[in-house]
Amino acid sequence: MLKRLAFGCVMLAAALTASAQDNYPSRPITIVVPFAAGGPTDTVARLVAQSMGKTLGQVLVIENTGGAGGTIGVERVAKNSKPDGYTLLLMHIGISTAPSLYRKLRFDPQKDLEPIGLITDVPMTIIARKDFPPKDMKDLISYVKANKDKVTYANAGVGAASHLCGMLFMSAIQTDLTTVPYKGTAPAMTDLIGGQVDFMCDQTTNTTAQIKGGKVKAYAVTTRNRLKSMPDVPTAEEAGVKGFEVAVWHGLWAPAGTPKSDIAKLSAALKTALKDPDVVSKFADLGTEPVPQDRATPEALRAHLKSEIEKWGPIIKKAGIYAD
Ligand code: ASP
Repeated sequence: MLKRLAFGCVMLAAALTASAQDNYPSRPITIVVPFAAGGPTDTVARLVAQSMGKTLGQVLVIENTGGAGGTIGVERVAKNSKPDGYTLLLMHIGISTAPSLYRKLRFDPQKDLEPIGLITDVPMTIIARKDFPPKDMKDLISYVKANKDKVTYANAGVGAASHLCGMLFMSAIQTDLTTVPYKGTAPAMTDLIGGQVDFMCDQTTNTTAQIKGGKVKAYAVTTRNRLKSMPDVPTAEEAGVKGFEVAVWHGLWAPAGTPKSDIAKLSAALKTALKDPDVVSKFADLGTEPVPQDRATPEALRAHLKSEIEKWGPIIKKAGIYAD
């Protein structure tokens, strides 16, 4: 009798789990963006979330948890969220540099997160306040070297893409500058436009409108080729910084332990979003494009994260930069 009852309970629990998974998602999903609202990562997240929401039949709400170069937001999902499919993380290249930059990181991005898929590779631009004296990249380099005690470089903290780009730039020109960290490049951009800081390197998802509107000065794009969205801006290589190339890849994750069936639904919805003509055209306006469909998968993101951690580790060690 008791045995039969226990068996019945097990069957009931299994049926409830299966039906919870079949119904997934049955309520809104939160996507944590580890930077300030209105910035480049937030922009990517909102475009993708809106389209994924149409496929999943639920709203995807963005939660901006900025600070410490994005590591606070990543930790919130990796360590402090239930693996139930209702809290996700949208983060970028910084998740692969943080393990080398932070010696006391409280999460392991390869163990504590379940990949869903890659999203897009966003180019960066080296920009300055409108009235910053240097007129082109050659000028910028000599000006910055001559005025290194007073020039300020804005970024979104150690681990942000703007930090990585600045670190590579400073090492390319062999000059250390004063950096001013923000919770994201949205507030950094406000200060750059206001003239409180001198220059920064930020993603085109945040800088395109400001460059086109003449609110900031652009010196170079960080891609191998010029961008269709701003054909007059030279590449860093053309402008004289040899071998300088960074693209900010983005991915979507869930906490480790999230049911495989939820991950499969989320990955399918991500793929659909990346084919959505509205997403494609808005990405193009911002100087980027979705990854090919076979990269919007858990396997592709898992492999990419591993190879990026391996790529940046030695570069960061050599630069000798640590956040803690
Ligand atoms: N992408 C970040 C943001 O959204 C900034 C950065 O990575 O530099 O603010």
